Amino acid sequence: MSGISIRIRGIVQGVGFRPAVWRMAGECEIAGTVGNDAHGVLIQAWGSKSNLSRFKGLLETFPPPLARVESIEILPITGDAPHLDFQIIGSSTGEAQTGIAPDAATCPDCLKETLNPKDRRTRYPFTNCTHCGPRLSIIRSVPYDRGNTSMDDFKMCEVCQGEYDDPADRRFHAQPNACAVCGPRVWIEDGQGNEIESMQEGDAVSLAASLIEKGEIIAIKGIGGFHLACDAAQSKTVSQLRQRKKRYKKPFALMAHDVDSISNFARVGEAEEWLLRDRAAPIVILEAEGEPLAPGLAPGQSSLGFMLPYTPLHHLLMDHLKRPIVMTSANISDEPQCFENSSARERLSGIANYFLLHDRSIVNRLDDSVLRNMDGTPRFLRRARGYAPEPLLLPKGFEGAPDIMAMGGELKNTFCLLKDGRAMVSQHMGDLEEMSVLRDYLDNIDLYEQLFDHRPQAIAIDLHPGYLSSQTGRDWSRERGVALIEVQHHHAHVAACMAEHGLPADTQDVLGIVLDGLGMGDDGTIWGAEFMKAGYASYERLARFRPVPMIGAAQAVREPWRSAYAQLRQSLGWQMVADTYGGLDIVDDLQRRPLKTLETMADKGLNSPMASSAGRLFDAAAAILGISRDGVSYEGEAAILMEDMAAPCFTEEKARAYPSSVNGDNCFLLELVWDDLWTNLLDDLMRGTDQAVVAARFHQGVVVAVSDLAERLARQHGLSTVILGGGVFQNRLILEGVTETLSTTGLRVHSPRLFPANDGGLSLGQAAIAAIRQTHGKPRKATESPEFIIPTLN
Ligand SMILES: [Zn+2]
Ligand SMILES: [Zn+2]
Repeated sequence: MSGISIRIRGIVQGVGFRPAVWRMAGECEIAGTVGNDAHGVLIQAWGSKSNLSRFKGLLETFPPPLARVESIEILPITGDAPHLDFQIIGSSTGEAQTGIAPDAATCPDCLKETLNPKDRRTRYPFTNCTHCGPRLSIIRSVPYDRGNTSMDDFKMCEVCQGEYDDPADRRFHAQPNACAVCGPRVWIEDGQGNEIESMQEGDAVSLAASLIEKGEIIAIKGIGGFHLACDAAQSKTVSQLRQRKKRYKKPFALMAHDVDSISNFARVGEAEEWLLRDRAAPIVILEAEGEPLAPGLAPGQSSLGFMLPYTPLHHLLMDHLKRPIVMTSANISDEPQCFENSSARERLSGIANYFLLHDRSIVNRLDDSVLRNMDGTPRFLRRARGYAPEPLLLPKGFEGAPDIMAMGGELKNTFCLLKDGRAMVSQHMGDLEEMSVLRDYLDNIDLYEQLFDHRPQAIAIDLHPGYLSSQTGRDWSRERGVALIEVQHHHAHVAACMAEHGLPADTQDVLGIVLDGLGMGDDGTIWGAEFMKAGYASYERLARFRPVPMIGAAQAVREPWRSAYAQLRQSLGWQMVADTYGGLDIVDDLQRRPLKTLETMADKGLNSPMASSAGRLFDAAAAILGISRDGVSYEGEAAILMEDMAAPCFTEEKARAYPSSVNGDNCFLLELVWDDLWTNLLDDLMRGTDQAVVAARFHQGVVVAVSDLAERLARQHGLSTVILGGGVFQNRLILEGVTETLSTTGLRVHSPRLFPANDGGLSLGQAAIAAIRQTHGKPRKATESPEFIIPTLN
C-alpha cells in the first residue's frame, strides 16, 4: 500500500466532484478521503500501485460534466491510511470557494426522467441534478450551500433528502434538488394576476403551449430572467409583440425543439450544431435557409438566432409545440430583462397576455449568451448565462499579480476580478445608464467579491470620466484606499485579446488594430479606429482614421445621416458633392436638412467633437445607401444591416475595393483618409450600380486599407503579431477579410473569441493591464479633463 495526495484546481466545487471521486475510489479499491478546501478538491488516497494509477487515470479522463479541471498535482504521502474505506469530508462553512459553476442546461438523465410517465419526476419543470440546473442564477452568498440559494425557501421531502445525502446518487449535494412534492411549482396567470385553472392535461406548461399555438403572447419565467414567447410562424402576433415591446427592428431570438427542427429554417453546420448542443445552450446566429418563418423576426437580416430548450420547463413546452417560438428577453425597449414575478406583472402587463410563473426566485439576472461562428471559430457576441462566472486562466507572468477589480465600460458592461492568475469576467450586465442595471452591477460586484474571496488592491477604470463605472471605481479607490489605474479604452481592447490568446506578461510588443465606436483617448479627444504598438504595460499610437466631426455629438451616434454629411463634407466639400452628385437620393435628402446650422457647428466645434471612429465611417456609408439613415434603434444597427446587404457580393468584389490613402510621414501619427473611397462610391451610385455591390466594395475598401496599413506598420516597427479588437470586428466580412489578408503576409493574427470584441470584453483588458502595471510599473498619470462633454454612446 502506498499513499498519494491529489490536489485538483479549477471549477471543482458544487459540481458533484466529491461523489464522483468517491465512486471512482470504490471502483479502484482506494482508501482515504476527499474534501473541498480553499484551493479546490484535495484527495488523500491509499492503495496498491496499480489501483492508484487506475484511479488517477479515471480522475483525469472522467471528471464530472460541469467541472473544469485546471490542474492536477500529485505528491506522495508517508504513513498509513487512517481507515480502510473512502470517505467524503464535509466542507467547513466560511471557507473560500474556488469557483461556482455556471448555470447548465438540463442533462440527458434529468430530461429522460422528466419525460418518463413512470418516473416520480414526470413532467416536473424543475428537475435537476449535480450535472445540470441553476447555479449562479440562484446563489446569494458563499459557500454554495442550499441555505445560501433561493432554494432555501423549499424544504426537501424525505425522498429528495435521501438522494441529497447519498454519495452514490446523482443528486448527492445537488443544492437545487427538488420534486413536485417539495420543490418550486409553476402556474399560469392572466394579465390581471388571476391564476388560471389548467383543465387540459392538468398542467400549466401545456396550457401555455396551447395558448402560444392560438397566437397569444406569454411571459415565461426561466433560469436567469423572463422571456416573451409567441409562435414564430404567426406574423400578426410577431408584429404585435414588436409594437408592444417597442422593439421595432432588433432581431428576436428563437427556441426550437431540437437541431433537426432548426435545420428546417436555418443552415446548421457541424460547428453550429456543436454550439447549439453546448451545456450552456446559447443563442447561435445562423443563416436563414429553408422554410420561411414570420418576416418580422429579424427585419432586414438574413440570419436568425436559435437556441435549444435548456430547462425542463422549456423541454415540456417545446415537446408540446414541436415548432419554433420567439423567446426574446422580456423587457420594454432597452430596459434590462425582468426577473421578478412582481416586476414582470407590472412591467409586462401591456405586452404579455398571460404569465407562466414559478416561485423559485432568480437572484442574479442572466441574459442568454449569444455566439456566432466567424472565420471558422465560435465567437461570443454576448457572454452571460451558462458561461459566467467561469474563470479564464491567465497566461504566464500573471501568477503573482495582486487582486484587481476592473470596472468595465458603460454600454454592454461587464466587470472583471483578477485573482491568483485567473480572470473572472462577469455576465453581460448591460447599459449602466439604466438605473436598474447599475443596481444589478453593484450587487453583482459584491457577490463576485464574496464568491471569489476577492480583496482588490487596485481598481482599474476607463479613461472616460463620464462612465458610471469609472465614477464608481474612482469613489471606491478613495474609500478603500487602494490604487486607481486608468486604462485607455482601445488599449484595453488589445490587452483583452492578448490575454485570452495566452500572450505572456512579458510578451513582445504587438500591433493592435482596434476598430470601434467611440472611446476616450489619452489626449482628451475621442478615438475609435486606432493602430497601436502595444504590450500589456503601455502602448504607442501609430495610426488612426482621420478624425471627422460628430455634429451634434451623441445625436450623431443616433442619426447616421449626420455622419454621411460630415464625411462627405470633409472629404469632398459639400458644394462639390451637391454640384457633382445632385440627383442622388442621399444628396437630395441632405439638402433638405439644416446644413447651414450643421456647418457652423462643425466649423466652430460647437457640440461637434472630432472623432477617429470606425463606427461612424460605417454609419456614413450605410446612410448613403439608405440604411437606417434617419436613426438607429439599437447599437450597430446600420453597420449590421449593411454587412448583410454586402455579404452575397463580398468575395467577388475583392478586386474592385474602393481605394483610400494614408496621410503623414512615418515619424508622426499616420492617418487613413477616405476621400477616394467616397468619390468612387458616389460615382458608382451615379452609374446606377447595385447597392449590394456598392456595399461590398465599401467593405473590401476598408479591408484593404486596414490590412495594407497594418502590414506597413508591422514591417516598419518589427512587429510580427497582430491583435484585432473593437466592435467593428463583430462584422464577419471585416473580421474574415482582414484576417485572411494579413495571414497571407506571414503575420500572426489573433482576434477575440472567448469574450466579445465589443465593450463586453473591455474589463478583461483593463484587469490585465492593471495587473501588469501594479506588478512591474507605475500607474499612468491621470489625464486632464476634456473640454467638452463627450458622448458615452458607442
Ligand atoms: Zn441532471
Ligand atoms: Zn422532493
